Amino acid sequence: MIIAIDGPAASGKSTLARALAARLGLTFLDTGAMYRAVTLAALRRDVPPSDAAACAALAGELRLSFDAEGRILIEGEPGEPHIRGAEVTGHVSEVAAHSGVRRALVEAQRAVAAAAVEAGGGVVAEGRDTTSVVFPGADLKVFLLASPAVRAMRRAREEGRPEMAATYEADLARRDTHDSQRADSPLLEVEDAVRVDTDTLSPEAVLDHVAGLAGARRSG
Ligand code: C5P
Repeated sequence: MIIAIDGPAASGKSTLARALAARLGLTFLDTGAMYRAVTLAALRRDVPPSDAAACAALAGELRLSFDAEGRILIEGEPGEPHIRGAEVTGHVSEVAAHSGVRRALVEAQRAVAAAAVEAGGGVVAEGRDTTSVVFPGADLKVFLLASPAVRAMRRAREEGRPEMAATYEADLARRDTHDSQRADSPLLEVEDAVRVDTDTLSPEAVLDHVAGLAGARRSG
């Protein structure tokens, strides 16, 4: 079974996808972590994020894998927490806009899913183009939404810095605009996705709702 979840930054996709994968016995696939890993490697190797050809070459040669908990490994080394740093977050949308980078990573994402399905399981993938480009034939597609203010406050609380909410809101808005307006695989809500607005729902309520949808698709 393949479940694809897309939505804007900090809409709760990772929390939902991770918990859903655990509940259904599927593999969690954090596609954003892969774009972040390529960005981290570029910064560490002095590859300019604006250099499309060099970033694409890096995406093609970098050995990315995941540990049993779904955390990314870069050349076998843990990518967390480095991939979540401010510098990576500030450059990742620029790197992710390069078509050559996307081609390499989409191929890797499909390979993870194919291996999981082959082993009798499946994936819960989350990102910006998993419903539209990576897995257009997914068994269940979800578009997760939350208002900018709620997303910023959640992210600020997670990091123990509620006073930063306004700064985070501006950062999220900048990334959303970049991700929605790029030419290749922009963030968009596909017609056959189920829209889930999480503004007034707890993470548990979102999980129960989407797990219910998945159960119905599985047996249907
Ligand atoms: O989900 P996360 O915030 O970690 O994603 C980081 C960035 O990676 C996004 O802002 C976007 O630019 C890029 N991304 C993408 N396509 C995906 C997942 C993430 O372009 N499927």
